[in-house]
Amino acid sequence: KEEHLRKPEWLKIKLNTNENYTGLKKLMRENNLHTVCEEAKCPNIHECWAVRRTATFMILGSVCTRACRFCAVKTGLPTELDWDEPSRVAESVRLMNLKHAVITAVARDDLKDGGAAVFAETVRSVREKNPFTTIEVLPSDMGGEFENIKTLMDARPDILNHNIETVRSLTPRVRARAKYERSLELLRRSKELQPDIPTKSSLMVGLGETKEEIIETMDDLRENQVDIMTIGQYLQPSKKHLKVQKYYHPDEFAELREIAMTKGFSHCEAGPLVRSSYHADEQVNEASKK
Ligand code: SF4
Ligand code: SF4
Repeated sequence: KEEHLRKPEWLKIKLNTNENYTGLKKLMRENNLHTVCEEAKCPNIHECWAVRRTATFMILGSVCTRACRFCAVKTGLPTELDWDEPSRVAESVRLMNLKHAVITAVARDDLKDGGAAVFAETVRSVREKNPFTTIEVLPSDMGGEFENIKTLMDARPDILNHNIETVRSLTPRVRARAKYERSLELLRRSKELQPDIPTKSSLMVGLGETKEEIIETMDDLRENQVDIMTIGQYLQPSKKHLKVQKYYHPDEFAELREIAMTKGFSHCEAGPLVRSSYHADEQVNEASKK
């Protein structure tokens, strides 16, 4: 029988519609740039853009070659590779006066380098125009080619973030083409390439995993030297996407955070609205204090 869980109170947040983002949104359209903040209708946008001065850019276009069953990004065959995008991102970071910029990308399985060269160039451009902005990169597995991750790490981001997304047993159902082991390996190799750059990974919960499996994921991440972990509630972006199996209570998130901290992460954010890029500005500071 088809059953739909009801959204608990703590997820019924009111979007702050009084805030005026028109200027920033216009800036994005004029520059043909995409942010996850807008496209995923992230509930934290006011806090991030206006208070914390952080945003998540999605580069390499807005069409992904994969179709993960939790993700709202459009799937298709991208047509172009836009070498001008790095400088437009850099200029927008400047105009938005960001303290922390997260740069993520769609998976470009159509490209030999998975888009690594443009990604690395974006990091360099943002750095050049914004020497005081910290930069977090959030790549896909870039085809699992470690040459590609090396290209990106050579650009020296402040944080390498790669999401494990879900526990081992659910990975084949949840993530298109990505593999649990390959993601762990990407995290480990990034650390080997640039040991002083903190690594980070995020887990969505509510897809049917058990608590034991969540803890096992923490252990797997720590075994691969991951420094920072975030844990957030999975929300179904549309009826076509995977259904939510469980809404975790804020107390359960607090407990998961406690457990993560005993595993040795330098920082863990866990909560119903926590997203991969949430409070990222604090994490970079704490991780570098280590
Ligand atoms: Fe954007 Fe991430 Fe903040 Fe959401 S949490 S508004 S996606 S930076
Ligand atoms: Fe979404 Fe990333 Fe999966 Fe593409 S690879 S569908 S952008 S989660």
